[in-house]
Amino acid sequence: MAKQVTRLGVCNLCEAICGLRLTLEEGRITSVRGNPDDPLSRGHICPKALALQDIREDPDRLRRPVRRVPGGTAGEDVWEEIGWDEAFDLIADSLARTVREHGRDALAVYLGNPNVHSLGAMTHGTAMVKSFRTRNTYSATSVDQLPHQLVAHLMYGHQLLVPVPDIDRTQLFVVVGGNPMASNGSLMTVPDFPGRLRELRRRGGRMVVLDPRRTETAKAADEHHFVRPGSDAFVLLAMLHTVFAEGLAGPPEYVDGLDVVAAAVEPFTPERAEAASGLSAEVVRSLARDLVATEAAALYGRLGVSTQEFGSVCQWAIQCLNIVAGNLDREGGVMLTSPAVDAVGRGLIGKGHRDLWRSRVRKLPEFGGELPTSTLADEILTPGEGQVRAVLTVAGNPVLSTPDGARLDDALAGLDFMAAVDLYVNETTRHADVILPPTTALERDHYDLAFHVLAVRNTARFTPAVFAKDKDARHDWEIFREIALRTAKRLGVKQPWRKRLAFEARMRLSPTRTIDLLLRTDRARLSLRRLRRQPEGVDLGPLRSVLPGRLKTKDRRVHAAPPLILDDLARLDAASVAPAEGQLLLIGRRHQRDCNSWMHNTERLTKGRPRHHLLMHPDDLAERGIADGTAVAVTSRVGTVHAEVQSTDDIMRGVVSLPHGYGHQREGVRLARASQVPGPSINDLTDPAVLDVASGNAVLNGVPVTVTPAEPGAAPAIETAGRVAATKD
Ligand code: SF4
Repeated sequence: MAKQVTRLGVCNLCEAICGLRLTLEEGRITSVRGNPDDPLSRGHICPKALALQDIREDPDRLRRPVRRVPGGTAGEDVWEEIGWDEAFDLIADSLARTVREHGRDALAVYLGNPNVHSLGAMTHGTAMVKSFRTRNTYSATSVDQLPHQLVAHLMYGHQLLVPVPDIDRTQLFVVVGGNPMASNGSLMTVPDFPGRLRELRRRGGRMVVLDPRRTETAKAADEHHFVRPGSDAFVLLAMLHTVFAEGLAGPPEYVDGLDVVAAAVEPFTPERAEAASGLSAEVVRSLARDLVATEAAALYGRLGVSTQEFGSVCQWAIQCLNIVAGNLDREGGVMLTSPAVDAVGRGLIGKGHRDLWRSRVRKLPEFGGELPTSTLADEILTPGEGQVRAVLTVAGNPVLSTPDGARLDDALAGLDFMAAVDLYVNETTRHADVILPPTTALERDHYDLAFHVLAVRNTARFTPAVFAKDKDARHDWEIFREIALRTAKRLGVKQPWRKRLAFEARMRLSPTRTIDLLLRTDRARLSLRRLRRQPEGVDLGPLRSVLPGRLKTKDRRVHAAPPLILDDLARLDAASVAPAEGQLLLIGRRHQRDCNSWMHNTERLTKGRPRHHLLMHPDDLAERGIADGTAVAVTSRVGTVHAEVQSTDDIMRGVVSLPHGYGHQREGVRLARASQVPGPSINDLTDPAVLDVASGNAVLNGVPVTVTPAEPGAAPAIETAGRVAATKD
């Protein structure tokens, strides 16, 4: 009988960072369980944890660098394996040539979501990007959570001072546009959300959800109310209006500007919110009163309220509501974490800055050194000085995950050069000249620099690699190091020798050694040795009160009335969120077994009931004479996709929903395993011209569309589902 070995691991596929107990037999994982001794995840896992093994063994996964050779025997591009040295040199030569001939901004970088889940990407990826000194840096941040970061920067002085609901002690949890039952939290690392919700109920607490769809979280809630997509700002401002109008505000002493806020929200009454959102004025008032009256209450808004036209106003209003209700920095309210490696306190991650430069074509301001991803295609396609001619993507698939992905697809095809650091040939990386595949999560050491900062409990955990990497494999940080150092050498970057040596030394220091140094010198005084002895993680206790000391504003006070956000209220005042006659409002959705646009070739995650359908209310279907289950054409300003419609009263009237991260049916993506996940890309409908103006974040929710029966002969994407990529982003 084969010998069994138990190893502790971590799943870092999503923000919940669950601790794992793995059983290995003859070098293979035979069982994946949650680790009950993990002080944060407490034994929880979701079905995606099982897929860690699938990724490692995936026949579709690249294991060596590949170069695209145009026009093989069938006239199609072919991928040819090459050595690491040759690949690094090819990339460094091409990036350096682009910069020499066209300037630094001719090189663009796009970082996908998995970067923040990898220790090596956090310690070395960012340093590599900075070494390019290009203004054309883009990431998944601006199609997701940029409003949170902007508001934290403006109000608390640092983009990552994002208060987290203290869910383990709250009595009232109000969720707006979030679905933690499916996501296990986002910008709120909360593994075992279902278990924590049960505990909330046992304490006599309750959860209220506002969402245009009866999501998995809404179904588990004590109360759910439909809210028209894009109208949440009216609802949140009306709640603020109520608190001020009824004299209920009880903010802490260290908050400035609330008199300005009170005046600014005066026109946004509950009746106006009702007209815009469909949520009754009485519910708006009673929710506002409950947030104040409940001793420990937390208001949380996530992707649904960030990725809309007034995302920053929404996130600002949520912060203000938590402040005026006395719930900021209060046990059971919303609190800041005290992580063992304090990336905020030590300045490892910058405070954030805005508008130091603007994009060339649309003049959109940067935030934190990044431009809005919605304008990447403009920068590639528009001729002139500073035009982007080379792109490096890292663990990203923006063709599927960013607005008007079809246009970006075309833009990438016309580049002089493209390189990718990715495990797969996906819808984006198929345009690359060279792809460099890193090791997978099971082959890397991990300490979570990002999500301990956003977790509902203070813990620290170091997880050594479960498997040794192959001899001819490279970790992501080793790839970043080689690209950065070789490109800099070719460019002959002139800088003081001390600075150059410091950069080289930093790039040569492994992420694990970096963490060891950071841990020893941080407040928690943990050492890597201690964490190695306690691989389940060290419990540093519940969230604790840290304000005003942890603020990063110059005067150590909360700035409740940032002019940038207040100025945007005039735009909201004039806005109409009601769709035009005959139009519906499109929203996205996620599923617990989906990981954005990747792992759609993983059999155990894709089996079961199909989940690609366009969800539509039965009355909206009847009004258009469309039968349940038939093919429809969905059209926005940007394009048309075909989808199979599913009738459900889980969605608000006037709203339709497609899942995020689908649309793998594109030519040129050659993979071994067939898709079980058909369905079009919602981002062939989302519109890059529409942004949350304050932050530049993409608008993925509340997109006006029409839905009509598909023309006879039209080829619905559902019929063309063939081979798909397992992609990242
Ligand atoms: S919730 Fe699932 S995907 Fe997320 S970390 Fe835990 S096991 Fe992994």
